Amino acid sequence: NKAAIGLIGLGTMGSALALNIADNGYKIAVTNRTVSRVSEFINDAGELSEYLIGCDDIESFVASLQTPRAIIVMVPAGKPFDDQIEALKPYLDEGDTLIDAGNTNFHDTRRRDAELAADGFRFVGMGVSGGEEGARFGPSIMVGGPEESFKPIEPIINAIAAKYEGDPCAAHLGPDGAGHFVKTVHNGIEYADMQLIAEVWGILRDGQGKSAAEVGALFDRWNEGELKSYLVEITGKALGATDEATGKPVVDIILDRAGQKGTGRWTVIEALGLGQSASTIEAAVGARSWSAAKDVREAGAEILAVQPEGGPQVSEEDLADALLAARILAYAQGFDILTAASETYGWDLDMARVAEIWRAGCIIRSALLDDISAAFRGELPKGRLILAPAFAKRLVNGSAALRRVVASAAMNGQATPAFSAALAYFDTMRTARGTTDLVQAQRDFFGAHGFERVDQEGGGFHGPWALSAEDMNVSR
Ligand code: NDP
Repeated sequence: NKAAIGLIGLGTMGSALALNIADNGYKIAVTNRTVSRVSEFINDAGELSEYLIGCDDIESFVASLQTPRAIIVMVPAGKPFDDQIEALKPYLDEGDTLIDAGNTNFHDTRRRDAELAADGFRFVGMGVSGGEEGARFGPSIMVGGPEESFKPIEPIINAIAAKYEGDPCAAHLGPDGAGHFVKTVHNGIEYADMQLIAEVWGILRDGQGKSAAEVGALFDRWNEGELKSYLVEITGKALGATDEATGKPVVDIILDRAGQKGTGRWTVIEALGLGQSASTIEAAVGARSWSAAKDVREAGAEILAVQPEGGPQVSEEDLADALLAARILAYAQGFDILTAASETYGWDLDMARVAEIWRAGCIIRSALLDDISAAFRGELPKGRLILAPAFAKRLVNGSAALRRVVASAAMNGQATPAFSAALAYFDTMRTARGTTDLVQAQRDFFGAHGFERVDQEGGGFHGPWALSAEDMNVSR
């Protein structure tokens, strides 16, 4: 009685995924580098253990799987994954499917897809979002790879995925790295949303003297309305929590130095590489990096001390409206990256479907995603979410609040990098004639790069500036 699927890597995510698969009635074989973890896992599984086959080595693990085999590998991305694949290969047959469910860089997924196909194996690069709880009870699953590699495991993946009104939050999104890329951008949007929320916290705590409990209660209220989302929900709960040892709010005893594992940075790197700028995500990644320089900030608090001119504080209503507008802009920038990547890599991503599988199970699930999928299915001027009627209206309505939040923070000396970046993007995108006419003039002046004219077709026009030796001396 062999297993329908196998899983290697019984860490946080692997264990939860294996239990989820067993819970859905599929027999699953599991193994782990540290062998003692296997029996521990089976013993802790309770009645689900009848669906689990614990294996102490790769050979017995592979032998316990139905053929053609399907094996989920849930170990840290990069070398551990490559090493694991090399260890597996001698025991596999042509047509077996390897599934990378980790947070892998999509360039690695593209490389492995080609390499493993050449070896006769099938490969699926699968992004999984939702943390441990999601993995156990229903994550959002973003699948990339050849369609025929995914088909055999599709019923299992649909069964374990989160459901939104019965619809599984899992989809085959495109070939090779499409799934891991969409997961990466998901995480980039997550960074932006978290940073925007943290900036609201800063304005209320430092600018308006509010306590963690007060701000937590505000987020609880916001979670009843248009801002309803997983991140707003957990923010309310986190701000309401008390540290047992000190009796203080937990958030007040946490060091303000944020970690990052790379997916936010990858989003920004890929955006720039694709000729895009996901400025709100960029600001969020940068804010985490700045936060790491705690010693510099402590010195700066003295050396760079200034008394800002000050200005009126914003209302809670303004903060809610600004957060909604900036969140829309962050999502929109994320989808712009997906659009650019889809064109560059020939993935033909279905953006509406991406929005749909983010509606439950994942960290950025929010009330907005239903509207985003509807917008992509409807008329989308220039292919841009910000121009879709439903979102354009919200942005126009929310822009005054966004402007007041950024202006007030600036006048009061509070850093709001993500809000500021979102506003700059909004204002740039509603300015038909910008200021890069002058950038083009400068480029032509020093580099003879040429420019286009507003009144004639074609390019390669030059300005009336003659490059003289004297000019060059001046500019040097
Ligand atoms: P854990 O650290 O909890 O578990 C890692 C697992 O990988 C363990 O089973 C470990 O085995 C095994 N492992 C580590 N190094 C090697 C190696 N060189 N060779 C073979 N096995 C190895 O990690 P997570 O479960 O949190 O993460 C796994 C993957 O899932 C990562 O890619 C992560 O980015 C991704 N992910 C994590 C999420 C989360 O919320 N934690 C969310 C979404 C994706 P051993 O017991 O021997 O150490």
